[in-house]
Amino acid sequence: MDSFDPAQVDIPTGHFIDGKLVEAGDTPLDVICPSSGRPYAELALASPDTVARAADGAWHAFRHSGWATCAPRERARVLRRLADLVESDVRTLAPLEAIGSTRPVRETADWDVPYTAECLRFYAEHADKHGGELAATDPSHLGMTITEPIGVVAAIAPWNFPLVMAIWKIAPALAAGNAVVLKPSELTPFSVLRLAELAIQAGVPANLLNVVQGDGRTTGDALVRHPRVGKVTFTGSTRTGAAIMEACAQSGTKPVTLELGGKSPQVVFADVPDLDAVARRIAMGITGNAGQVCNAGSRLVVEASIAEALLDKLRAIFASLHPGATWSAGTTLSPIISEAQVQRIDALVSRAREAGANVYCGAERANAYQDGAWYAPTLLTGVQPHAEIVREEVFGPVLTVQTFTSEAEALQLAQHDDYGLAAGVHTANLGRALRMVRGIDAGNIWVNRYGRSSDFVLPTGGFKRSGLGKDLGRQAFEANLRSKAVLIDLNG
Ligand code: NAD
Repeated sequence: MDSFDPAQVDIPTGHFIDGKLVEAGDTPLDVICPSSGRPYAELALASPDTVARAADGAWHAFRHSGWATCAPRERARVLRRLADLVESDVRTLAPLEAIGSTRPVRETADWDVPYTAECLRFYAEHADKHGGELAATDPSHLGMTITEPIGVVAAIAPWNFPLVMAIWKIAPALAAGNAVVLKPSELTPFSVLRLAELAIQAGVPANLLNVVQGDGRTTGDALVRHPRVGKVTFTGSTRTGAAIMEACAQSGTKPVTLELGGKSPQVVFADVPDLDAVARRIAMGITGNAGQVCNAGSRLVVEASIAEALLDKLRAIFASLHPGATWSAGTTLSPIISEAQVQRIDALVSRAREAGANVYCGAERANAYQDGAWYAPTLLTGVQPHAEIVREEVFGPVLTVQTFTSEAEALQLAQHDDYGLAAGVHTANLGRALRMVRGIDAGNIWVNRYGRSSDFVLPTGGFKRSGLGKDLGRQAFEANLRSKAVLIDLNG
């Protein structure tokens, strides 16, 4: 898609409740455009009363709209229709997604929007392909488990891929027959409102997908704790995930899925056949969305004999990227979401330097437009295994470099004490690849590539402080169901 004029984009605002956009008289907040650093729309911060309206409405729709009780194929048909509408709405959705987020329009048009549609199709196919099972009980009885939707699922999303993170939650929950109340990030709140409008056009009953806008402390917390909410699915930081888990425990022992932070290694052995290809993968893993990706490959662990050659290639790729506004088709380096975040990145890099790290390239802001905030892709060598910059999630385009001389050392450096979200292994040796796959403590491991594909069938989720449960795959569908055990006395 070509560049667009941000002044020409219509921004839907308000909450989405009972099938329409509503202004609820809640406290307005300015929303800042990351590319310009300036306010571009107002967000209403939903009070607990507005949250209750959305959650009670969703509960009513779950009970009475027929969505949970219709033939599953009917749900599948509606979700497929929604997928088609999303795809054909790309000229509206792609700029809307780009304007307030860090996602360049070329990517929202070519990837985020079509991926959102395809994710809906994947879960539409699940709607009628799961059931319970018969149990091997005593022959005088018939025992079985039946599955049913949970009720109202609260979905809380981060800002880094607003549509995609939301659809990971919404698609399996709706396909399984639930209602959803979504709270997008207060930093990127608007594109999901368009998605909710399209859901109504597709035939999703009113109130079955509600959206409440607001921050975490007031709106998010009220949503998680609402008594009508039966499950919470969250993507965001590890700290917020822990607070949500606590709130779920205190407000009804609600099941919770948590997709949290990471500090993922990219391990490169000297036997790789094509170092240029590896450099491109490593670069994409840390500069995609300017490193504002949960599974950013932010720790390069490279065999010492090829380290210098690989770093030179990475520096050249980094230098070829174009920072720019998300509405410009030529942008290949995303802005950082906020001024506060760019300052946090810079402070982490400064402290790393004070602790002895050497700057191979970057380590500075790269402002490209008005008051927006960009950060130059950065390579830091000479870092110690327990340095803050190696342990902490930066959420920016900062790659630390550590070298090894044996496979055992590579594995040791790849492990992280707290996080276990993802890892990349690059080698031509199959046995070594599999040994690393077995050894690395992470929920997603990619060999000779980095990052997910569009194979929704593979679940994603982290170990340790990177999360609990899975998004995507059959697992995410099943996590939106509860199982009931039934025992029938055949002689009764
Ligand atoms: P965040 O934790 O600050 O906010 C995420 C969401 O939680 C927002 O909608 C926010 O309003 C809400 N929230 C905050 N406090 C809350 C509370 N007490 N109760 C309920 N809701 C609350 O995270 P962020 O800065 O938006 O996103 C970046 C983080 O997300 C990074 O750590 C990144 O690794 C993680 N992330 C993980 C994955 C994954 O799949 N594992 C994917 C994307 C992002």
